[in-house]
Amino acid sequence: MPSPELIIYPARRVRTMDPARPVADAVAVRGDRVRAVGTLDELAAYGPARIDDRYVDRVIFPGMVEAHTHVGSGGVWRNPYVGYFGRTDPDGRRWEGCTSLSAVIARLRELEAKLAPGQPLVAWGLDPIYFPDERLDKRHLDAVSATRLIAVYHVSGHLMTVNSAVLAADGITSQTRVDGVARGADGEPNGELQEMAAMGLVASVPHPLAAIDTDQEFALRNFGADARNHGITTAVDLGNLRLMDDAAVTMLRDIVEDPDFPVRLSVFHFGAGFGPQVPLDDAVERITRLRATSTAKLRLGHVKLILDGSNQGFTGRLQEPGYLPDGRQGIWVIPPDQFREVFAAYHASGATIHVHCNGDEATELFLDVLEDVLERHPRWDHRHTVTHSQLSTAAQYRRMAALGAGANIFANHIYYWGDQHRDVILGPDRAARMNAAATALRCGVPIALHCDTPVTPLDPLATASYAAERRTPTGAVLGEFERISVPQALEAMTLGAAYLLKLDHLVGSIEAGKFADFAILSDDPYESSPAGLRDIEVAGTVVGGRHHPIAHAAG
Ligand SMILES: [Zn+2]
Repeated sequence: MPSPELIIYPARRVRTMDPARPVADAVAVRGDRVRAVGTLDELAAYGPARIDDRYVDRVIFPGMVEAHTHVGSGGVWRNPYVGYFGRTDPDGRRWEGCTSLSAVIARLRELEAKLAPGQPLVAWGLDPIYFPDERLDKRHLDAVSATRLIAVYHVSGHLMTVNSAVLAADGITSQTRVDGVARGADGEPNGELQEMAAMGLVASVPHPLAAIDTDQEFALRNFGADARNHGITTAVDLGNLRLMDDAAVTMLRDIVEDPDFPVRLSVFHFGAGFGPQVPLDDAVERITRLRATSTAKLRLGHVKLILDGSNQGFTGRLQEPGYLPDGRQGIWVIPPDQFREVFAAYHASGATIHVHCNGDEATELFLDVLEDVLERHPRWDHRHTVTHSQLSTAAQYRRMAALGAGANIFANHIYYWGDQHRDVILGPDRAARMNAAATALRCGVPIALHCDTPVTPLDPLATASYAAERRTPTGAVLGEFERISVPQALEAMTLGAAYLLKLDHLVGSIEAGKFADFAILSDDPYESSPAGLRDIEVAGTVVGGRHHPIAHAAG
């Protein structure tokens, strides 16, 4: 077979992230790989080539890597959005933020008026932390409609609010004895349902993430479009519950391997606490087998575990002195003994394990278990990672470095909820060391940064800006000594994330032999101010040499 033609893409600049050759004039691509970077004269040495001018006014940047997302987030766009911050959907349509409770109600009324009789109204993205004076309950929703089923999911994913029609349809009454069914002064359920047990009582309306089960293709295609619109060419589905099911794996493979699907995906198995109960030995064996079936586009065989809850929900596990209001210390999502057993089994099988740790006590347990497991079963270059790592201390970062662990840091929290962390949840001192990317780098810990979509939007340049600026919603700088430079933040969103996924030899920079995965940008982010990163436009991506221009909203 003749080898594919050599195509040279001249650009305003090629920003490579290769320390030996950080910028170039053009990149030469053969098939799905980078052949060379350099000047047009230098590239002439590689033989006959076709010049493709389409990016001549653009900056070619390495395709960005998002190491903590949930592909089910593509399915939330089946439903309207009522969150505080504006968001753009995968089709490029802008949803303005609802910045007051009355704006939420007004949007719900507008949507309700357009629905056919009998169709439920399901919205998502409510962020009640921004409405401290009045909390959404069933009375507000009953005023929108007393007869139509209405459910509003909160942005955290841990709560929902429903109207009286849903309470009646699902038989939730003052007699219901389930933790998390919030009650009004009259002792009746007020419509708010907290955490999984209470939310699980609702069967009359679909969950916004249900599309990943009922219509995996819709969710995945929307996720792919959203990633492409933001310059992402490799992403992680961090915690998939369907890998024990052959049919689901086949469907996943069919969609991801489609050349029109614009993202390489690394799908991590949800190792414990959720999903089908498969005996541990069988699950480890199956995941090890799936790892061997990985392709250039779809990686399988790594594992996600969850240790604690969320700090803004006061459920992340904190060391002394606990949470600011009352010293409580949060919850374990899976019992520490179960974590030890599951972690040891996957570690011994050769998997890379990313562990959700929001609070510092969760990080501490992760490190204790890792140290113990490494003594009993030494392994080099495991790249086990603390994901979120929101409150990891300097001492813990030193231990991560000693034990070969990485940190995937949830920088977006400062931009979305930084004031609340400082004033309500932690106090100024511990809030200042939240998402301590500078300390991690000073300690020599490899880092990535992430958005955890649908919790916050997919947008790696914005995520990089939040880590470099550390500005809260009111504009205060939270923890000025934990700011990192723009180049450090951009490296975390490309090579840094690729490293924690064991993909840095293939993606994350533009170098001869690596995949031709690019983000096509309006400007060079290296020359941007931290805030300016958010204004850089993405024109599209290139994945393995194939072009994926962004979607533009109709009209
Ligand atoms: Zn997550």
